[in-house]
Amino acid sequence: MASTSSLLSSAVTEEEVTLTVKWSGKEYTVRVCGDDTVGELKRRICEVTNVLPKRQKLLYPKVGSKLADDSLLLSQLPLKSSLKMTMIGTVEDDIIVDQVDSPEIIDDFELGQAEAVDIKDKEVNKQKLRKRIDRCKIELRNPCRNGKKLLVLDIDYTLFDHRSTAENPLELMRPYLHEFLTAVYSEYDIIIWSATSMKWVELKMGELGVLDNPNYKITALLDHLAMITVQSDSRGTFDCKPLGLIWAQFPEFYNSRNTIMFDDLRRNFVMNPQNGLAIKPFKQAHSNRDKDQELVKLTHYLLAIAELDDISHLDHKNWESYNEDTFKRRRHA
Ligand code: MG
Repeated sequence: MASTSSLLSSAVTEEEVTLTVKWSGKEYTVRVCGDDTVGELKRRICEVTNVLPKRQKLLYPKVGSKLADDSLLLSQLPLKSSLKMTMIGTVEDDIIVDQVDSPEIIDDFELGQAEAVDIKDKEVNKQKLRKRIDRCKIELRNPCRNGKKLLVLDIDYTLFDHRSTAENPLELMRPYLHEFLTAVYSEYDIIIWSATSMKWVELKMGELGVLDNPNYKITALLDHLAMITVQSDSRGTFDCKPLGLIWAQFPEFYNSRNTIMFDDLRRNFVMNPQNGLAIKPFKQAHSNRDKDQELVKLTHYLLAIAELDDISHLDHKNWESYNEDTFKRRRHA
């Protein structure tokens, strides 16, 4: 019974709708499916307008405030190609200025183990991932290297304090960033994945000197368009960074056994809990610039585990004690 009804509904919902979106005096065309969510529609709109999804307010005849719910399926709305949608939103250039005053949701909620497993295994989320794999092609800046593991790095609060202000962005860079990247590059290809937009990823990484450093190369940059929106019972919907997107496009190089991802938000690796390491956020750069040693300690960890064939069985929560144990083993050897 269940499979029959899901077949029936997927026949209806996979239908594509072409929508016209009006924004700032111009019209844009986006194509969506019924089984996309409002959140995904906003991503499509972002691709053509550069207005980040969280900045968009969507207006459409007869749907009221429903478009404020990012988890709502588009098949639940009376969308028609003949009607135009209006988007109200701030252009990206204003956002950095805005960021300083706007409170941001930064709480790193911890999902229960059972719930996290549930999200990763849910068919609807796997399907979202497959769709993202089809739509989002990763552009390589440098070739993948044979025999290397993969390190995926978040930017904000991981490599950079984006909430403090400074005349020179270098003052907000996490200490030892270049030393860290140089050292781990010997064993890992490096991909940077931020929940902001490509424009800012390139700008920030360029300003910090990460993109043209002679001592290491960045394999690829990914932004929010590569993320997927998932739903949890206790926390509602949120975006996350599914590593499966990378594994599907470069299966001869990267997989769940040789990839590790650093992010200050644990929820970002909910689709790959075994591959995530929750890094202590780097905040208040001006007072912590001289104290923060995380990247030095993590260099030791990454180089120590690089000799393992499979790093997915490690519990990265215990990375600090792994360092101590390795140190002790070496002293007693
Ligand atoms: Mg972050």
